Amino acid sequence: MAGEVDAAPARGRGDRVERLAGLVRSAQSVVALTGAGISVPSGIPDFRSPGTGLWEGVNPMEVAHIDAFRTDPARFWSFYGQRFTSLRDKQPNGAHRALVDLERRGPLDGVITQNIDQLHRAAGTAELIEVHGSIATSSCLGCGARHELEEVRRRLEADGRYPPCDCGAPLKPDVVLFGEMLPDEAMERATRLASEADLLLCVGSSLEVYPVAGLPELTLGGGGRIAIVTQGPTPFDRDAEVKLAGDVVAELEAVVAAV
Ligand code: ZN
Repeated sequence: MAGEVDAAPARGRGDRVERLAGLVRSAQSVVALTGAGISVPSGIPDFRSPGTGLWEGVNPMEVAHIDAFRTDPARFWSFYGQRFTSLRDKQPNGAHRALVDLERRGPLDGVITQNIDQLHRAAGTAELIEVHGSIATSSCLGCGARHELEEVRRRLEADGRYPPCDCGAPLKPDVVLFGEMLPDEAMERATRLASEADLLLCVGSSLEVYPVAGLPELTLGGGGRIAIVTQGPTPFDRDAEVKLAGDVVAELEAVVAAV
């Protein structure tokens, strides 16, 4: 996949890894910002990439939209239930674990993620901000009751249409659907961390979806630096001190080993 990058002179890549490790060592506060790319090696496709199975034949903007949930919760769940099932057995990979390692050793203050798959949590990240929510719980838009993932799965299976709340209304996964606002509290924490970071380590995110895409600007505005570990271009490639574009697991493991 990263053939061209790997084909580059080994010394060039090694220099970039060492440069990034040096930035981590010298920073008082490192914050990671992660997107779909970090979970791809765990077998979770990035639905923005074409032809990635799970979302094939459906338009996520339509089926995973809050209006679709409100108008036809059964249709929404016929799609979203598959997503729940497909995430069931997924495990964190070396990139998730490298960030845990960096946090336990001190330099990393927190992980801001756009992912809803819970893999940072499963890997053991302590300071985690899930700005798009997660599948851990689902809530009732009517009475506000909240239920855990396993209970939601049980109710979905028993009902066959959608997981009903005790009040009878359909539960909605606590993920940010298209057409919904990002949770205020999570965005406030993310904003504060990004503003105060000496180094924002952007991993596996195309940095194109606002408001998360605004976080690197906050770090730069606060006098901090950004580094990018992502395959494919981002709007911040020119602002980054270092960009690593190879396999996300190999790149992060190399950097953390060199810190
Ligand atoms: Zn309810």
